Formats: sequence, structure tokens, C-alpha cells
Amino acid sequence: MRARQGGDRAGGEADGPFACKGCRCDGADDAATAKKRQRELDTVQRMIGIYCQGHHATERGELCAHCRELSDYVVQRIERCPLTESKTFCSSCPVHCYRPEMRERIREVMRYAGPRMLLVNPGKAFAHALDTMRTRHRSEKKSV
Ligand SMILES: [Zn+2]
Repeated sequence: MRARQGGDRAGGEADGPFACKGCRCDGADDAATAKKRQRELDTVQRMIGIYCQGHHATERGELCAHCRELSDYVVQRIERCPLTESKTFCSSCPVHCYRPEMRERIREVMRYAGPRMLLVNPGKAFAHALDTMRTRHRSEKKSV
């Protein structure tokens, strides 16, 4: 029998829509990384959805233009992120690839949506996200 040839990029790694765009990993997200990326995408998009519903009175599953812009931006960042494998969550990422304005916006979204998300769906991933925020919060706690 023949094992899968690891180093060979035979077009289209099996795992879903996350073919790498222009980064040096040759599209070789392994399954775990792809999954993590997907989960982060899901989480962040749901958070933006919750935020938008709460602030801009949009229908469930829809985003206003403002939030869609943010969502598109975040999706783009996540898809290109070279650190998905090792980091926990974009908000605690050492690279800070977000533009300051966008970072402020996504943080606002997380502050609002994080706790609500836990109420709706108390899953591990969300607990983790919240935990990440707490950690950050602590380190940022200057005199506000
Ligand atoms: Zn909105």
C-alpha cells in the first residue's frame, strides 16, 4: 500500500476552501489548522452578526454595510494569517496585522458579543475567546 505523499502539492489539498493565497506555506494547511481557521472565521463572523443585530437592528444573518466591511476585512486577515497554527486568537496575536482602526472595531465587537455568545452557545471555543480577552484586558489595564 502507498502512503499519501506528504511533500507533493498535488493541487487542492483535501481540506476545504482555504487554499493559501500567496503565503509561503504552499497551501499546506494541515487538517487541524484548517479547522482552527474555520472555527475562528465562524466565531468572529457570528460575533459581528450579534453586534450588528444589537447595534444596527439588522436581521439575523445579515450585516449592515459598516459591519460587512469589518467582516470582510477580518476574514481576509484570518485567511492570510501565517500564525493560525500557533496562536490562540487574532485578538491576542503578537503580529497585530489589523489596522488600528479595525482592531478597535473588532475589539468593540468582541466586548459586546463575547458574553452574549457564551449565553447562546456555551462552547469551549467561546470560553476560550473570552479567556483570551480577559488576559488581554488584564495586561491593558492602565488607568482608563
Ligand atoms: Zn452593523
